[in-house]
Amino acid sequence: MTVSLSRLDELLELRSEAVPRGVSNAYPVIAARAQGVRLWDVEGREYFDWVGGIGVLNVGHNHPQVVEAVRAQLENFTHTCFQVAMYEPYLRLAQRLNARFPSQTKQAGQIKTVFFTTGAEATENAIKIARAATKRPAVISFTHSFHGRTLMGMTLTGKKAYYSQNFGPFAPDVYHAPFPYTYRGMSVEAALEGLQELFRTTVDASRVAAIIIEPVLGEGGFVAAPPEFLQALRELCTQNGILLIADEIQSGVGRTGTFWAIEQSGVEPDLLAFAKSIGGGLPLSGVTGKAEIMDAPAAGGLGGTYAGNPLACAAGLAVLDLFEDGSLLSHAQHVGERLHAAFMEMQASTPAIGDVRGLGPMIALEFVKGRESKTPNPELAARVVDAARKRGLLLLKAGMYTNVIRVLVPLVVTDAELDDGLGILRSALEEAVAER
Ligand code: PMP
Repeated sequence: MTVSLSRLDELLELRSEAVPRGVSNAYPVIAARAQGVRLWDVEGREYFDWVGGIGVLNVGHNHPQVVEAVRAQLENFTHTCFQVAMYEPYLRLAQRLNARFPSQTKQAGQIKTVFFTTGAEATENAIKIARAATKRPAVISFTHSFHGRTLMGMTLTGKKAYYSQNFGPFAPDVYHAPFPYTYRGMSVEAALEGLQELFRTTVDASRVAAIIIEPVLGEGGFVAAPPEFLQALRELCTQNGILLIADEIQSGVGRTGTFWAIEQSGVEPDLLAFAKSIGGGLPLSGVTGKAEIMDAPAAGGLGGTYAGNPLACAAGLAVLDLFEDGSLLSHAQHVGERLHAAFMEMQASTPAIGDVRGLGPMIALEFVKGRESKTPNPELAARVVDAARKRGLLLLKAGMYTNVIRVLVPLVVTDAELDDGLGILRSALEEAVAER
């Protein structure tokens, strides 16, 4: 007897047949179409997408201006390789990102940008540039961090069990300092002391090329580094000739209500790695920084065949246009305030929500077994995500213990759409809590 499978089941079967399990899937959803904050699966089911392809769609799916810019570029050419025949979208986008760099010094020629394709390449290259500029070998990153799946990316990443598995040996001369995760007992003072301890016991500060930090942990569960921590880090780097690299791959491009998250601390990084939402859905990443540092690698040391692809740069220019007049950032702040208020209300009535945190609309809920014990509750987080999906809301987990639900809703979301999504989340939460 032949059983006829639904289209979704057929494709899910093909997925396990044709694609290795190492690529994980958040849920059994197969997309057919998406627009703004909505996504439709192959069977026509509609979802609110509060994941945005993991923080790639701050301007929403298929923003008409992004689509138009890509279409126009597509008609000219799709690829030349910037190292072979340069093109204006790359140059203009670099110019505009230089002007966006969080620094007082912004005259032409003082800040430079190089493009790549993925976030991991951006962090890899930020380290290459920092080593070339300082002529030092060592690098410090933080516990709970995520910086990519390449060799250096994995080595920098401070969330090991999941991402590093048995993929070693890893890159040498990389050390981890404690991230100030105050909810789990790591105060700013203790984290700074941990860094000093690292200098005393493991790697002399004079050997360190760079310290790389996510101003707000992405995969690590949306923990914002307190401004005083970033400020102390800045001072410590300056005193010791260490370069400060901000990994804004997930926190950047308006996600926290300012264009870069680090702007909110007043700290100027030496280098800034970006990716995800800058391309509005097309693969684009890069590093921006002070010219004397950016110019340290000799010709040929940076680049890549597809690095700064013309279609992606055209999309990047359209994304920057959308942020130009500041209204999208003010709307993002408004979205952040509404999410925060709604989440605080949920926390008040749900003891399993241990922490509500983040920066602006980069906000998350941390689930625990009890307010006092703070024992992580990944099972409940999973049930909430599942119940929400079945009701038409896509959410994504995060955190060292996979007990955090993060929100990466496109910033173009309207109040009505946000209310509808929050309504789904509330009922999913009730169902998941009642289930146990
Ligand atoms: N850094 C951060 C902070 C990220 O969130 C990510 C992706 N989640 C990366 C680096 C790696 O980016 P990609 O997956 O594009 O290589």
